[in-house]
This record gives sequence, C-alpha cells and structure tokens, in this order.
Amino acid sequence: MVDRLARRALDDAIASFHRNRGLAMLLLAGLLPTSCARRPTGPPNVVVVVVDTLRADRLGCYGNPRGLTPFLDGLAARGAVFRNAYATTSWTNPSVASLFTSRYPSQHQVTTFFARLSPEEVNVVAKLDPLGYLGGGFSANFGVADQVGRALGFRSCHAYHTNKPKLRAAPVIEAGLAWVDRVRRRAPRRPLFLYFQFMEPHFPYDPPPEYRRRFDPPGRRGDDALAINKKLLVETKAITEDDLALLRSLYDGEVALMDAELRRLFGELEKRRVLEHALVVVTADHGEEFKEHGGIVHGDSLYNEVLRVPLIVLAPGQPAGRTVAQNVSLVDVAPTLLDLLHLPPEPRFEGRSLLPLWQGDVPPVDVVAELPTTAFGAAPRHTLALVRGSIKLLVRPDSSDPSGDTETYDLARDPAESAPHPSPPDADTHLLLEALHRHETALAERAPTHAEHRPPSETTRERLRALGYVN
Ligand SMILES: [Zn+2]
Repeated sequence: MVDRLARRALDDAIASFHRNRGLAMLLLAGLLPTSCARRPTGPPNVVVVVVDTLRADRLGCYGNPRGLTPFLDGLAARGAVFRNAYATTSWTNPSVASLFTSRYPSQHQVTTFFARLSPEEVNVVAKLDPLGYLGGGFSANFGVADQVGRALGFRSCHAYHTNKPKLRAAPVIEAGLAWVDRVRRRAPRRPLFLYFQFMEPHFPYDPPPEYRRRFDPPGRRGDDALAINKKLLVETKAITEDDLALLRSLYDGEVALMDAELRRLFGELEKRRVLEHALVVVTADHGEEFKEHGGIVHGDSLYNEVLRVPLIVLAPGQPAGRTVAQNVSLVDVAPTLLDLLHLPPEPRFEGRSLLPLWQGDVPPVDVVAELPTTAFGAAPRHTLALVRGSIKLLVRPDSSDPSGDTETYDLARDPAESAPHPSPPDADTHLLLEALHRHETALAERAPTHAEHRPPSETTRERLRALGYVN
C-alpha cells in the first residue's frame, strides 16, 4: 500500500512537472528554434561532473593553447561557459559541500578532512526528491564521497578505495554506467541525478606514457614521475624551474587523459539516452598551484590558480555557445539547477541562479571565498577573498581591520596576481574589506550548522598520506 501511494505521489509530481515545464516551453517556443523547444519526455536527467583539481586555464575554451581538452571544448560550445567562475575555497571537501548546498564553508563547516556534512544542510539533490530523481554518486575521491557525498541524499554514493596513490577514472565510469543500467531496468521512468568526481589532475601527476610523451619538456623525457612528485612534496624548496616545467607537463598529460575519459563517459551516457534533454554541469572543486606564489598543490591560499575553476553548463532550450564573463561562484550552481527545473528558489541557498546571466545581462555581484582551515591543517596564507569586477582583495589571517594585512590586485591588468597593487587606494581597500566583513557577518547570522567531526581511522590517515596531505 505504502509503495502504491508513494508511486502515485511520484506520478503526480512528474505530471505536475510536465504541466509547468510545458507552460514554460510554450512561452519560450516563440524565442527559440523549434528543435530546442521539443517537449521533453519527463524531468530531465541531471549530470554533475567535478574534475578534482582542474585549473580553468588548462581548458581550450578558457584560452589554453595546448589542445588539452578537445572534448570539453566541444561540449562547452553546446552550452554556456562561465569564464570567471570561483570555487568557495581551495580544497575538496568544503568546496564540494558548497557546490551542492549553495552555502559557504563557514556555514556548512566541512572544514577538515574529518568533518562530515550535517544532515540538516539543505542540498540540491534532496530538493529534487519530490520529482522522483534517483541519485547516484561515483567518486574517485574517497574523502569527499565519505564525508560529503553520502550526506547529500544519493541513494548510492560509492567511494572507491585503492592501494595506489589515486584511483583512475575508468573503474568509476564503469561502476556509474553499471548503476545506470541497473536502475533503468528497475525504474525506467525515473529521472537520474548523476554525480561523478574524478581525480586525474590531482597530485601525484603520473599519466600513462602516451599522454606523458605529448607534453614532456625537452631534456626531461624519461624522468621518474613519482620521484619528481615526491620531490615536490618532500623537498619543496629544492624544486627548480625545470622540475616545475616537468610537473606542469605531467599535470597537463593528466588533464588530456581526463578529457579522453570524459569523452568516453559522455559517449556511453549518450548511448543509454541519459543525455537527452539532460542538464549537464562540468566543473572543478579547485585548481592547483605550481609555485606561482611560492606554494604547491592546493588548499592553503586563495590565489586564482587554486580558486578559478571551469564551469560549463548545458541545458535544453538554453542558448548554445554563450560565454559569460561576469564573476560567478560555485554556490550559484544549485540555485541554477532549481531554476532550470522550474522549481522555486530555496531561501537557504546563498547563491543566485545563473540563468539570467546566460540569457542576458544582469548587475554583477561580489564573489567571496573563504579558507577557514587548510587541507594540511597548517595556517592558511589567506582566510578570505573578495572579487568585485576585476579587483580582487585577499585577506591574510588576523587582519580583521582595514589597516590589516591585505593584498589587492587588478585582474584586468595583472591576471596572474604577480604584483600586489603597490599603493592600493586606501578608500577602495577599505570599502572592499567592509563589504567582505558585512558578507561574513550576514553568513554567520544565517544559521550555521555543525558538521560532525570524527577522528580519522589509521586507514584513512594512510590514504591521505598517500595523497600527500598528512604526515
Ligand atoms: Zn579536490
């Protein structure tokens, strides 16, 4: 009986979605090509792909000249590319928690490896439950699957463990596809919410030979990849410019491999008709540093090499080939999904829908990032960042007043943040700091939840050690 009632409620929800969606499509039909205005067969599938540690500047559609991402560039041409997208922080767990909850690290408090997202946090996966979505999460990053993925309401959220330093995409893709086949047999009408998190560009960088050969710098061919990776972590100060060139090339090889794996994943999803009318989001949780500002890997600063991420969104009926220049944040993704699904906004979400930016021009807003604690547990180099237009303010720890320790950059003139403004206009810095502190005060007032902190098991420590995070 319960099953029958639940089934009926689900059918009603899907029928209601059809009615709302049909109305919206009628309104849009006059503005869009008829091929875009085809009536969908149900709530669209949602596919969210997070490529761990993928810098925005490695994608061709973000201006990279090395041809690393032909698949992603082609995908981007079918939707919108947000050229200035910022993560809320510079390491995995808090960033992914922000992506799905549209809340900042200071609010959801997933700020250590051992903090688990609170079930009280509203998230976009759970928001779609009334429409009958089946959620499947497939993560090569065991930490984020354990501490964030499972709390998001995915009926299935797999973390794959390996005795190698990191897990490759192939088995994660196979498991995801097998899950799709399985649930499709059982519930062919239910829409799917798929979340994949891949690790290819994550440290250690050790692409297979065919990808390595394409990018190795002259003179460094055949160097032991794992030895140079280890040197990066253990003898950071001894890393030379040549070493960095090799590490960047190995990283680029991983990015190219990731692109090929995504081509395979999307091809398989297409064969299964999962992508028909689907909403697709491809992004990253953070970027990666190669000593541009003296640091390595990620998680202890808020410079753009770790904060700017790719953000590509595809949605049926929305204009293709759009490039949006305005600054946006990953907290905007969840509200955008609700908007694209014609669901009412969620008041607890901090972000805004990106649909109006995609369709036209709207006033800009400040983008804020936080780094309450580092991935390594050490003191962060920055605690807060604010980007207003092309001006970026970075705040170092213990600089809570306008005379405190800040760095200001004009990204239009100095996109690499190579030289802090030599004499930042005090009034501007003061205004930006005030805006930042107002923002943080408002966030604090909006009911922070308390993530559950658990001491790590020795196995977890061992795995984190293999990735270079703990001693
Ligand atoms: Zn990450």
